[in-house]
Amino acid sequence: MPTVQRHDVLILGSGLAGLRAALEIARRLGGSADIGIVSKVQLMRSHSVCAEGGTGAVLRPEEGDSLELHAWDTVKGSDFLADQDVVDAFVEACPQELRQLEHWGLAWTRRDDGRLWQRAFGGHSFPRATMAADKTGLFEMQTLYDTLVKYQTFTRYDEVFVTSIVVQDGEFRGLTAIDSATGEFLGLCGKALIIASGGLGTLYGFTTYSQTVTGDGQAMAYRAGLPLEDPEFIQFHPTGLVPSGILMTEGCRGEGGYLRNSEGERFMEQYAPERMEMAPRDIISRSMMTEILAGRGFEGPGGLDYLHLDLTHLGADKINERLPLIREVCMDFLGLDPIAALIPVRPVAHYSMGGIEADVTGGTRVGGIWAAGEVACVSVHGANRLGCNSTAECLVWGGITGAEVAKHLRTNPPMPDLPGERLQAEHRRIFGDMLQRDGGENPYEIRRELRQIMDGHVGVFRTTQELSAGLSKIRSLKERFADVTVQDKGRIYNSNLQNTLEVECLLDLAEIIVVAALARTESRGGHAQRDYPERDDENFLKHTLVSSNDEGPRVAYKPVAITKWKPVERTY
Ligand SMILES: Cc1cc2nc3c(=O)[nH]c(=O)nc-3n(C[C@H](O)[C@H](O)[C@H](O)COP(=O)(O)OP(=O)(O)OC[C@H]3O[C@@H](n4cnc5c(N)ncnc54)[C@H](O)[C@@H]3O)c2cc1C
Repeated sequence: MPTVQRHDVLILGSGLAGLRAALEIARRLGGSADIGIVSKVQLMRSHSVCAEGGTGAVLRPEEGDSLELHAWDTVKGSDFLADQDVVDAFVEACPQELRQLEHWGLAWTRRDDGRLWQRAFGGHSFPRATMAADKTGLFEMQTLYDTLVKYQTFTRYDEVFVTSIVVQDGEFRGLTAIDSATGEFLGLCGKALIIASGGLGTLYGFTTYSQTVTGDGQAMAYRAGLPLEDPEFIQFHPTGLVPSGILMTEGCRGEGGYLRNSEGERFMEQYAPERMEMAPRDIISRSMMTEILAGRGFEGPGGLDYLHLDLTHLGADKINERLPLIREVCMDFLGLDPIAALIPVRPVAHYSMGGIEADVTGGTRVGGIWAAGEVACVSVHGANRLGCNSTAECLVWGGITGAEVAKHLRTNPPMPDLPGERLQAEHRRIFGDMLQRDGGENPYEIRRELRQIMDGHVGVFRTTQELSAGLSKIRSLKERFADVTVQDKGRIYNSNLQNTLEVECLLDLAEIIVVAALARTESRGGHAQRDYPERDDENFLKHTLVSSNDEGPRVAYKPVAITKWKPVERTY
């Protein structure tokens, strides 16, 4: 039998959401907390370290900002699909989260008067992106981890790959995992689980995400019976560097950068005359694709036609002080210096608005399981997320779920059993079946084709025809996956096996996303359908819920919480 480790609470993921949750539990329970933090990468290599531009919060009511305005911007940005009660809770908690990080010692960028600097971000009516130059995520992660270390009440499971979430009778029972370094198969048992496993960006080939971000948490939760909410809403960030996809932060435009087409025009004038380059991401990405399709782009490698991001008027001092990473990346990857040269960019897959359905406390339909961060859909972003609201969401719901779990642990719940037959079945599935299969299909080839399908059929603009064709291709890839061969039959650091399990997650998620997209015959936020170009509030002002059944993904809906703001036309 595999080893079973027990902790009061398991946190699946060591990004911003996971670390913030761990810290909240440690802070509330002190030395009596027993926390297991599981991450498939080294703790500080979670994708959160890549966050660049900033974290949103209202910090200056006396200069004209307000919680009400942050809430309105978020709701309008969401194309009215965000739950408004959740948005209220979110904007209220953000300032405290930032002040808390300040007290924990984060080295924020400051104004001359010593107060925190905040820069403009798309769709926000006031500068709210609080930042540490353009390396905000790295500093936030370091601060959280340094603070957590003081508590010494946690065990790190670094490079431990979770393969399934075990649920029985509607209750959380434990996790199954592979310890990469030894190849040992593990059971992990806990009285509570916080899923904080991040996004699914590498479903696309042209993406800003680290290769480790493969949607495992969403796929495992779905298989365990939890519905996924609003999965069809994928965010395309306007400025991915061509051809690598590396993010050119929205901070570039927040600092005053322009977008230009091949005729040198600031084309956003036509699409968002007031906000221009500071409109929300969905609107700018659609405008950019419209320009490219109209022939006003530049021909790029591998079909990656592009436009220009122009920072040349900002001057060397501003670029060096506020956007040092952007300059470094442009020089290292393209040999161009943005102080003097224009940057080739195009819309790039960046964020998943949907995720595991969770309520305002991060609670899910399964007892003992909470979800926080990008993996969750508490529905603060609706159909389109505003920039700098995601790291803020991770901090806020890391804090909220941590507090909820601390409360739960104080009631002294019993340690559940991780049923032996479930452990054996998972062991058989991976080591008895998947590792032994010899059908000749290469998992990397399947992944490459999957990404091509997502890039080509499920992009900024969609059509029923393209989505349907995409769905049948995804389904045939799923059939081929049944014949996949893992060539490395060893145990130690078997990344070949891990990657194959990740591809299996991506295949499930691709099917779910496209099924949900086909069912939503309207255009809203990140879901723009050519054949249904209008928003249809009468029929689709509702959340999608996709659950697993024998025939595949099943789509249902639930209402949006609308408290103050009725939907209106979105102009910027
Ligand atoms: C390049 C880039 C820049 C960004 N910039 C900003 C920004 O400036 N402002 C902003 O608000 N947002 C930004 N975002 C978005 C934001 O950074 C992310 O949404 C957020 O950091 C996600 O954090 P998380 O804690 O949910 O997950 P992550 O930080 O992705 O962490 C996920 C964790 O789950 C673990 N995990 C996953 N699967 C498994 C498994 N099977 N077994 C074990 N462990 C697993 C991983 O090891 C990792 O520890 C950016 C995103 C990118 C990609």
